[in-house]
This record gives sequence, structure tokens and C-alpha cells, in this order.
Amino acid sequence: MKQVLLFLSLLLPAAGAAIAQDGRAPADLVNPLMGTDSKGELSNGNTYPAIALPWGMNFWMPQTGQMGNGWAYTYDSDKIRGFKQTHQPSPWINDYGQFSLMPVVGMKVDQNARASWFSHKTETARPYYYKVYLADHDVTAELTPTERCAYFRFTMPATDSAIVVIDAFDRGSFVRVDAARGRVYGFTTRNSGGVPANFKNYFVIEFDRLPDFHATWADGRLRQGDEVAAGHAMGVIGFKTPGGGVIQARVASSFISEEQAGLNLDRETGGKTFEQVKEEARARWNDVLGRIEVKGGERQRETFYSCLYRAVLFPRMFHEPDEAGAPRHYSPYNGQVLPGHLFTDTGFWDTFRCLFPLLNLVYPSMNAKIQEGLLNTYRESGFLPEWASPGHRGCMIGNNSASVVSDAILKGVTDPALVVELYEAMLKTANSVHPRVRSTGREGFEHYNRLGYVPYDAGINESAARTLEYAYDDWCIARVGAKLGRPREEVQLYEARGQNYRNVLDPETKLARGRNKDGAFQSPFNPLKWGDAFTEGNSWHYTWSVFHDARGLANHMGGNDRLVAMLDSVFRLPPAFDASYYGGVIHEIREMQIMNMGNYAHGNQPIQHMIYLYNHAGAPWKAQYWAREAMDKLYHPAPDGYCGDEDNGQTSAWYVFSALGFYPVCPGSDEYVIGSPLFTAATIHLENGKKIKITADGNAPGNRYIQSLRVNGKEYSKNYLDYFELLKGADLKFRMGDRPATTRGTGPGDAPYSFTK
Ligand code: CA
Repeated sequence: MKQVLLFLSLLLPAAGAAIAQDGRAPADLVNPLMGTDSKGELSNGNTYPAIALPWGMNFWMPQTGQMGNGWAYTYDSDKIRGFKQTHQPSPWINDYGQFSLMPVVGMKVDQNARASWFSHKTETARPYYYKVYLADHDVTAELTPTERCAYFRFTMPATDSAIVVIDAFDRGSFVRVDAARGRVYGFTTRNSGGVPANFKNYFVIEFDRLPDFHATWADGRLRQGDEVAAGHAMGVIGFKTPGGGVIQARVASSFISEEQAGLNLDRETGGKTFEQVKEEARARWNDVLGRIEVKGGERQRETFYSCLYRAVLFPRMFHEPDEAGAPRHYSPYNGQVLPGHLFTDTGFWDTFRCLFPLLNLVYPSMNAKIQEGLLNTYRESGFLPEWASPGHRGCMIGNNSASVVSDAILKGVTDPALVVELYEAMLKTANSVHPRVRSTGREGFEHYNRLGYVPYDAGINESAARTLEYAYDDWCIARVGAKLGRPREEVQLYEARGQNYRNVLDPETKLARGRNKDGAFQSPFNPLKWGDAFTEGNSWHYTWSVFHDARGLANHMGGNDRLVAMLDSVFRLPPAFDASYYGGVIHEIREMQIMNMGNYAHGNQPIQHMIYLYNHAGAPWKAQYWAREAMDKLYHPAPDGYCGDEDNGQTSAWYVFSALGFYPVCPGSDEYVIGSPLFTAATIHLENGKKIKITADGNAPGNRYIQSLRVNGKEYSKNYLDYFELLKGADLKFRMGDRPATTRGTGPGDAPYSFTK
């Protein structure tokens, strides 16, 4: 019997092993409401509860905001007006292809008339399940997702007018009721830009019983007939539930066609009960989240899995399986239906930093599909994306697709058959700019290629930030060029351009600074001024954007000690700012100001790797101190749990990496830079079957400093770990203490990668 049990336990998937000490599985440690206590002026995450599967094509959410409001679920709201299928990556980018269902009693159809009071005390939010009591209708609503569908369960009171309102939203929609089959078809064309004229999200809803009555509405008016095409189409399905009763609905959609929506409905929910779909969704989440097991404090585990949940939502899959199961997609670039994978809803300015490196380590098979999708984007639009939702969107700066593509190629994640064309795509994207969407490609590439920087006075905004990011992107391209054996001159050209960051480093202040066409640095210069030559940050935030050459940056500043002093200054400065570029305080500034961490602005992305640069300058204990400080102060598993926009997994992936004890400062290099492990034990179950085991003896809130590290049994003084060594499986034994070990990690060869030797 003992032997049999042992054998069974070996068969358990990773998730089985990942059940936490208190019996709660990872999916049940997630708080999807983390970050939802947000508003335009102050972001504690700017998230919404995404009830979805990992990377799912459709997310579902309770909608509290008015139609079109990007703050579609805010924690301080009192009323829910529907359950929305959403594809929104950020309130600033807003939604597309959205429609909603809302159970009501009586003919309350309009979004204000149907809205119902609710309480968080009657709300259950899990990644795989959402339940809430809608007080004004005395209805309990539940939903559970698949990748492209959802299952709804509405427990109705005794009434002759139990109604489900199907709102296809305004700006062009269609609804058709097929009462004989208990089905409703429709589509919405609502979007926020970045789609061809033929964009539609087709939906099909199948109820588990035939309706007793139904109606359609066009632009607020009740209509005769089963079908309505209007600016704003709605359908109403009514039931008599004399003793109270449960109404269930299965909902699917497709960006391809109504027929494909039906296919998605059958494939993902056909023949299944609500409970079956819910259990499958929970198991899927436990599998994906359970790839990383952690042992430690309960709040930290809740924060960790809430962050890991956010890190595996975006980019969403935009492809759909055909009859034979092969992926195909509606192209948001050219409007055609084409074979292959496609993903969307991520901004690389945010997510190149550590979200994609997390995928490469823990979920490489998913990133292999994403990379195929990036190549499809290039084939369909002539460019790699920078901010896709679902097509190219004008947002942020940089050409950081080069980082996302390079890191995957260099880590062996990308299908080798696609690498040459992806390299070609990087070269094209680095030397041109999209004719309509200027943030795709490289705005100012002509200046940059000629002068070695984007001039401050060339009418191109945020020019120093662009120069810094383009230079890093060029280093990424050079790395891939070298790997592919491209001509020497070509590799050297991009290596040389990788040093262009030097052209915007000011010898006087040692900081990054805008530079005019004639070579003079921009004046007057206020390093605390946000925007202007920089993007959503100031010079003190952006100077560190030399991911690939911290040694070069240190040399510019006058050596390691100077680099350390400059890093220290960021925390020592008061949270002073100049917001004049924006004409007002943008939320990212406010989030820096209120955190009492000086000018350190973790709520926005440019500075998120900065703490780890202490490792490059021989002061690893300072990275350990500040990494733990940021984890402890800036994250907790509550509605106000982030310190700025979460941004599609990036700010969450920072916590995931940091809690494990290392961080990918420079995607495109093989290295993860060491910080301060948060848990006493963690295990990463790699897709290749190997494990990375991390233990931190003596770990405690006060014991944040590494006293020693043994890797695979050997004393290890380096401040970084090698990706390919980790892939073989690794045993990392940290010993933690309350005093900095100021001699560890300071020897020659202990510093992480820099281009400059
Ligand atoms: Ca941001």
C-alpha cells in the first residue's frame, strides 16, 4: 500500500505539489481585486478583476463604470451594471470588442436602470470564478471562464419577469434572437482604434432553456422583431421563474465569424456543466501558477500568486482553432483571416523589461507561440509591434520589440525556422517608422542613425529617452546578428550604435540630458523635470536605461563608487518634481511623491531595474536592502496593493522575480541579477522537467542580507545567475542575516554582464 501511494504521488502534476501549507492552492491565494482601488489621478494598479484563463482570448469582469469608461471596475463603486467580456489592457488604452450580460428582474434595460447595488462582502473573486449578489434584483450571478467562452449561472427570485439583458454596446452593433433554439447571436464593432474597418467581435449565447419572451432594443427604443442592427443594439431574454430558479447561459465569441463563435462554444463548453468548466478553469490556474511553489508568510504568498496571475494574463491569444484545431486569426493589421498564432494587448515599453524574461524562464512554450505571432504581425503589417491592442496603437516610445524578439532567440525559445525572418523584421523596424502609427518602428531613426542620438530640437518628443532605448535595442540586434553569423560590418554597426547612449550622457551633471542638433546639451536643464527629453520620468529615472552597459555608465560617472553614490542619491533626494511639461501632475508623479522613497518611482517602468545595478558596482548588499524594501512597502494583496499602473504583467513580474531572489536587468543577456529572496523556500518547475530549488536559511523580515550563497553545493560569489545553467536544474542555497556582507560579491568577475569590459 505504501508503495502504491508513493507511486501515485509521483504522478501528481506540479500543481499537486504546490498546494500551500494551509491547504489553499495557488489559484485560491490570488486576489483578482488587487489594484482595483484606483482612479485617473492615483493608480494603485489600475487593474480590474480579470476572470479568465491564462493568456485567454476573452476576459470577463463585473462592470461598475459607465459604458466606455476605462475605469470599468473600481473598488469604491456601489453598483454593477453588467458582466462584460473585455479585452482591455489598460484604462488608458481602453477596451475593444466588448459586450455584456446582466440579469435583472423586470424590464430594466438601460445601463443605469439595470445597475444594482452590491457589496464586496457578498462578492467572491477568483481567477477562475466570480460570484456576486445583485441586491436590487435579488439575483446571485456566477461566472466561470474558458479561453474564449464563459459559463454564466443566474439564480433568480420567484418572478414572472426574470430577464437577461444582452448589451452589444454602442458605436455599431447587432443582435438576433433565435428563441426556438434559446440562442442569441450578435456582434459589436466597438473599439478604441487600431483596427481595420471590418473589425467585429461576433458572439453567440446559448441558454439552458427556451425563453418565455424576448425583445430587441435599438438606440434605447423597444423594437418589433427578432433582429436589430443599430448604433446601440440590445437583446432581452425573459423567463418565468415562479418558484425561483437557475438560468444558465454559455457564451462564446470570435473575431473571425459567427460560425467560428459557434465552433468555440462547442469546443470549449459543449456537453459540460458549470461545475465542470469551473473545475477545469481552477485546475488550469493551479497548473500555471503551480510552476512556482513558495513557502513563507501568508500575505507574501498571496501577493506572490496575485502578481503571478497578472503576469500570465497578457499578451492575450488572438488566434482561434479551426475545425481541425489549427490556429488561425483575424488580422487586426490587414483585416484578413490568416493561419497561425497571434497575441495582443501588451506594450513592450513596459513588458520587455521582465515580463518576457519571466515567460522565457518559466513558460517558454507559450512565448514560442507569441514569437510566431510577432512574426505574423511583421508579415501582415510590415512592422514588429510596440504597443498592440489589438492592432498597432500610438503609445509610448522605444523600439523594444528588438529586446522581446532577441531575448527569446538568444535563449533558444524561438522556433529556429523563424529566426532569420525575425532578424530581418528587427532590422526593418529599427530603420523605419510606421507611416500612421509613429510609435511603431523608430521615430527619429534618420537623425539617430546620422548623429548617434535623437536631437532635442528636431521636433521629436522625449528624445533622450528614445536615444537610450534605441541604443539598448541596437545592442540586442547586434547580439542576434552575431549569433546568426551575419556579416562583421553589420554586427559591428549595431554594436557601435549600442554605445549611442553615451551621446546623451552629460559630462557636467553625469546624468542623461537632451542634446541639440549642433551637439550642445539642452538648456536650461532640470534633472527633476518629468517628460520633455524623457518619457513619464525625469533624468534621475532614465539615466539608468543602459541595461547592457552598466560598466560604461559607471565609467562615465567616474567609477563604481560614483555610480553607487548616484544610485543612493535617487533615494536621498526629496520627492521633488517639475510637472510643467504635462501642465499638471500626472498620476505617475503623484505615486512617486507619496511613497516616501525619495525620487525612486517604482510605480512606473523606467526605473524598475535600477535597484539591481548596485550589483554591477560592487555593492550587492544595497540591492538586497532596496529590493526587499520595495517588495515590503510597495506591494500587498489588497485593492490598493500596487504603487502605480500594474501594466500588463510588468510590475507584477518584478515582484515575482524579486521574491525569488533575482531579476533580468538586461534581457538579451543570459543573466539574472541577484537580489534578496523573500521566501524561505521556493521551487521553479521548468518546462524541461528540471527544477530550480531556492532556499534561504535564516530568512526573516529583518534578515534581508545575503551572507553566503551556494549553487549546486559550491560557494558562489557572483552577483548573477546564468540562464543556461539554471535550465539544467539548480540548487540555490542562500544564508540570510541582518547585517550586510560587504565582502561578498565584490571581487573581479562577480559583477553581471556589461558590454564594456
Ligand atoms: Ca506605467
